[in-house]
Amino acid sequence: MTEGVLVLGGGLAGVACAQQLAQDGIEVTLVDRNDYHQFQPLLYQVASSQLPAEDVARPHRTIFQKTPAVKVMTAGVSSVDLAAHSLTLAEGRTLSGSHVVMAAGGQPNFFGIPGAAEHAFPLYSVADAERLRLQVKSVLQEPRPSGGDEVPARNIVVVGAGPTGVETTGALSELIEALRADGKEANTGTVFLVDRGEVLLGGFSDKAHNYAHRKLTEAGVQIRLGAGVAAVHPDGVALDDGSTIPSRIVVWAGGESAAEIASAAGSMRGAGGRIDVRADLGVGDLPGVWAVGDVANIPDGAGGTLPQLGSVAQQSGRWAAQNIVRQQRGEQTKPFAYKDKGIMAMIGRNAAVAEVGKHRHQVDGPIAFAAWLGVHAMLLSGVHARTDAFLTWAWDYFDRDHAATLESSARPQRIAWGDDGDDQPHIRLDKPASVGDHTTTVRGETHG
Ligand SMILES: Cc1cc2nc3c(=O)[nH]c(=O)nc-3n(C[C@H](O)[C@H](O)[C@H](O)COP(=O)(O)OP(=O)(O)OC[C@H]3O[C@@H](n4cnc5c(N)ncnc54)[C@H](O)[C@@H]3O)c2cc1C
Repeated sequence: MTEGVLVLGGGLAGVACAQQLAQDGIEVTLVDRNDYHQFQPLLYQVASSQLPAEDVARPHRTIFQKTPAVKVMTAGVSSVDLAAHSLTLAEGRTLSGSHVVMAAGGQPNFFGIPGAAEHAFPLYSVADAERLRLQVKSVLQEPRPSGGDEVPARNIVVVGAGPTGVETTGALSELIEALRADGKEANTGTVFLVDRGEVLLGGFSDKAHNYAHRKLTEAGVQIRLGAGVAAVHPDGVALDDGSTIPSRIVVWAGGESAAEIASAAGSMRGAGGRIDVRADLGVGDLPGVWAVGDVANIPDGAGGTLPQLGSVAQQSGRWAAQNIVRQQRGEQTKPFAYKDKGIMAMIGRNAAVAEVGKHRHQVDGPIAFAAWLGVHAMLLSGVHARTDAFLTWAWDYFDRDHAATLESSARPQRIAWGDDGDDQPHIRLDKPASVGDHTTTVRGETHG
C-alpha cells in the first residue's frame, strides 16, 4: 500500500514540506522518531534555564491537527531504499510512497576526539538541552565538601565559536553572572570558549568578530582561540597546546554532520556525510527522491553549498514540495532559489550581531536583536500560530532573573502559547533511537 509522499523527519524542513504538499492536496506520511518538532534555535535557552523544554518542542499531532492530508507516524526509521521509495521502521514494517523526501537533519560531529562523545554535552536536540541543563544545575548546586577539601571545578567549557557556541556561551555566562550577583553562590567558576580558529563567528565580518569578542570578554568569558581540543575527560578538557581546563560541563558546539540515515544515499553523499542534491533538490538520477534541510548539501549557485540554517531548511522543504507538485502536473521542476535572510547571533542581553541584505550590512545591539527576533518569529510561524506570544516572551526575557530560576525549584516562565495541558511532547532523556516499539500514527483531528 502506498502512503502518498513519505517525508522522513519532522524538523523545519520536513514540516514545511508536508504543509506545502497538503496545501496542494497531496497525501503525506511524515515519520519522525520523536512525537514532537524541536525548534533548535531556542535550545540554548533551555540549557541555560531560561525556557522549559516543552516550549521548544511542539507535538507533530498538534501542528497537523487541522491538516488531515498529513498522517504523522512516531517511529525510528532504520533503513531507506531510495530507488524503491521505501522506509523500513525499527519495528520491521516497511512503508512505500510515491516520492520520498529525506529531511532527517544532522547530528553532532565529534571528529573522533577521544572522550568527546562520552563526556561532552552536544546541543542538537531537546533531550540534549535538558541533559546539559541538569548537569549545569547539578554541578553548580553541589554541596560544599565538608572539612578542608577543595571544591571541584565549576568551570564551563564551550567548544566551538560559531553562532551556536557563541550564543550558548553568552547565555551560560549570564546565568553564572546572575548567580554570582545574587550572592548565594560565590564559587561559580569561569566560562571558557575554545576554538582552533582565530576569530569568533567565523562566517561573519571582522566587525562582528570583534563585537562578539568584546561582549563576551566584558561578560567575564575567557576566550581561547587557536587551541584545538585534544581530548575530553570526565573532569576536564585537554587542549593541543598542552594545557588543561578543569571542567565537568563541556558543551560541544564543535560541528555537525548528516543524520546517520543519510548513509542510505551511499555514494551520493558529500561533505559532512550530507546528501548531494541537484539544483532542484532531487537526488542523483533517482526519480521521486529529494533531500532538504541539514541532511542535504544544497548548491548555492556559486559553486558552494548553502549553510545549515533554519531558513534554508524551511525554504528547501517548501521548494521540494512545489517541485513534486510540478512533476505531478507534468511540468518541469525549478532550481531552488534561496531568499537569504542574513546571518545573526544573539550574544546576551541587548547584545546581538546581524548581517543582513544583499551586501551583508552589519548591525549590532538592539537593531540586530530585532532582526534576530523577526527571523525567528518567521521560522516559528511554521509550527506555532502564536508568534506574538514568542515576541512578548523574547522582549521580556532580557529582564528575567535567571539565578532565581536555577536556585529555586521553580520552573522558568513559559511562553504564553495558549496550549492546553494535554498538548505536551513526550521528551525522553535517553537516546531516542529505538522507538520502533511504540509506533503511533495520527491523522488530522482524530487524535488528541
Ligand atoms: C543549537 C542550535 C542553534 C541553532 N540556531 C539557529 C539560528 O539561530 N538560526 C537559524 O537559522 N538556524 C539555527 N540553527 C540551525 C537550524 O536549527 C537547522 O538548520 C534546522 O533546524 C534544520 O532543520 P531540519 O529539518 O533539516 O533538521 P532537524 O530539525 O534536525 O530535523 C530532523 C528530524 O529528523 C528526525 N530523524 C532523524 N533521523 C531519523 C530516523 N532515523 N528516524 C526517524 N526520525 C529521524 C529527527 O528526530 C528530527 O526531528 C541552529 C541549530 C542548532 C543545533
